[in-house]
Amino acid sequence: MSTINPQPGIMGITLYKGGESRIDGVEDVVKLSSNENPFGPSDAALEAFRKSSTQLHRYPPTDHADLRAAIAAVHGLDADRIICGAGSDEIITFLCQAYAGRGTEVLYTQHGFSMYRISALAAGAKPVVAPERDRVIDVDAILEHVTKKTRLVFIANPANPTSTMIGGNEVARLADGLPSNTLLVLDGAYAEFVDGYDGGAALVDQRPNVFMTRTFSKIYGLGGLRIGYGYGSQEVIDVLNRVRGPFNLSKTQLVTAEAAVRDTAYTEKCRAENARLRTWLAKALAEVGVPSDPSCANFILARFADQAEAEACEEHLRADGILVRKVAGYDLPNCLRITVGDEASCRRVAHSVSGFKGCRT
Ligand SMILES: *Cc1c(COP(=O)(O)O)cnc(C)c1O
Repeated sequence: MSTINPQPGIMGITLYKGGESRIDGVEDVVKLSSNENPFGPSDAALEAFRKSSTQLHRYPPTDHADLRAAIAAVHGLDADRIICGAGSDEIITFLCQAYAGRGTEVLYTQHGFSMYRISALAAGAKPVVAPERDRVIDVDAILEHVTKKTRLVFIANPANPTSTMIGGNEVARLADGLPSNTLLVLDGAYAEFVDGYDGGAALVDQRPNVFMTRTFSKIYGLGGLRIGYGYGSQEVIDVLNRVRGPFNLSKTQLVTAEAAVRDTAYTEKCRAENARLRTWLAKALAEVGVPSDPSCANFILARFADQAEAEACEEHLRADGILVRKVAGYDLPNCLRITVGDEASCRRVAHSVSGFKGCRT
């Protein structure tokens, strides 16, 4: 037996499983398993990406000033209180590294995003799970699970994989109910899909114990490039910058994200198209007996009678060349998470589910 032992908690981590992207023998796979933007990044972002190839021998800037300024200008934020990372995953890691550790607790909810647990365990903290009510975050249940050891509370709003969200009053009630030494982290990965929603930025400006994370992986169509950011009080940002590597983002990541966030017309187009196709898909599935909660994001959580039916439908879709996400690992065994793709993909998935249900379309 080796005496080279990892820190406690590390071996309790179950490896993150990304959405599948291949089906053997199928060429035109419809990938609806990772909540990616089916239209990809904007032309302006692609242009910036290509241009950056002439500068690959240069180290990137360490302060991310241009990207932070662009994010601040577009979203009306204070650029000094933004920190950028390799996806919002890295921001979640920084938060756990800086504020959690042995003897502390990290709280999230029943169907919460798996990176919260992974980052908590990696930091040596104890993950604590509060129940949800019918696939919606329950503020009272979260508050009941807070102890003296709770340092971080993570909620995604809208949430993945449930697609539901809670209102601003509920989020404020949660922030107000937490002890002053507990930081509430609002994961806004899907905030851009909600018309007029600030992801919780106003609450961050009002409360020192609230922090927001955002990503370029979803509406901006840049999941492959790994860019995200956090927004919080100056005090928290100054702490996180101490654990951030100086060159955590490449110049390519920085300039591409900057162009993407400034192309607000494209973002708006993607939001509108997602909303239109999401309504269509949810209705088409409901009509063949597959209900879902009203979605606030770019995916639908399709509900089946039981786990057996959900798994059988997943296999039926796979045989039709369509990949969706099984979510039994999120305590949703009777559900499948289906990303809202382009119009052709939505039609294909609706047709396939309809065939599975024995309906004709
Ligand atoms: C997709 C997703 C993210 C984004 O992670 P990145 O590291 O920025 O790609 C964050 N939180 C939730 C809940 C997500 O679904």
